[in-house]
Amino acid sequence: MREITEVILHCSATWSKQDIGAKEIENWHTMPKSKGGRGWAHIGYHFVIRRNGKIENGCPIATAGIHCSGHNAKSIGICMVGGGPMGEDNNFTDAQFHSLSFLLTQIRNNYPLTTIHGHNEFAQKACPVFSVAKFLAEYGIPKDPWDCQRWPHFKPKEFSALWGKGKMPQIWEQSLDALERLRTAYGKPLVITKSEWNDDFQRMIIDLRIPASARAVVTKRAIDAGFISSRATDTGVRVYMEKV
Ligand SMILES: [Zn+2]
Repeated sequence: MREITEVILHCSATWSKQDIGAKEIENWHTMPKSKGGRGWAHIGYHFVIRRNGKIENGCPIATAGIHCSGHNAKSIGICMVGGGPMGEDNNFTDAQFHSLSFLLTQIRNNYPLTTIHGHNEFAQKACPVFSVAKFLAEYGIPKDPWDCQRWPHFKPKEFSALWGKGKMPQIWEQSLDALERLRTAYGKPLVITKSEWNDDFQRMIIDLRIPASARAVVTKRAIDAGFISSRATDTGVRVYMEKV
């Protein structure tokens, strides 16, 4: 599976009365250039949101889309139907914005480290014609989950390993909160060497690289920080987190 770090929002640049969906856009994208199409192998977007709010599938998420130059390999592309042929008209329906917020929440559950953008952030275009920042604020969706400053000392890269392929935002957040408390108590950065969700024990297991001289104190502090257990290892400290 490719690594996904961005969600990019687009519009179809069609009039409000044009009730089109993924099928029509797929035709435009796959029709040969000689017939006025783009001549692509598949539809460029992963999702299309119709005028009535219905979410339709485009190409599979595992496949890189064709929607934003330089960003296709690592992003998911969503197309809102509407916006006007010249990108002049924010004519989208409430149903569409509602569905968009639902879809973004689902995507974040699966890809929690993604940031959300309008196409116009990466190209000299009006697309998606509406203000993404305003929409996200209205629906309470963070543009960048790391902007919240909740875990100021950890960066997405360090945590892509912690998250792995998991789909457990709750235990992930709990673990980050506890790591942040542990880091504060320890007074030094924590280096995560391994992390995994253990299905049998229903626990998150995180290995930290800690110098031998500090292992005993970090093992104890980990419990104060909220981990359910901890023990010293050959290279540092292993901590465990359980869902509350
Ligand atoms: Zn676009």
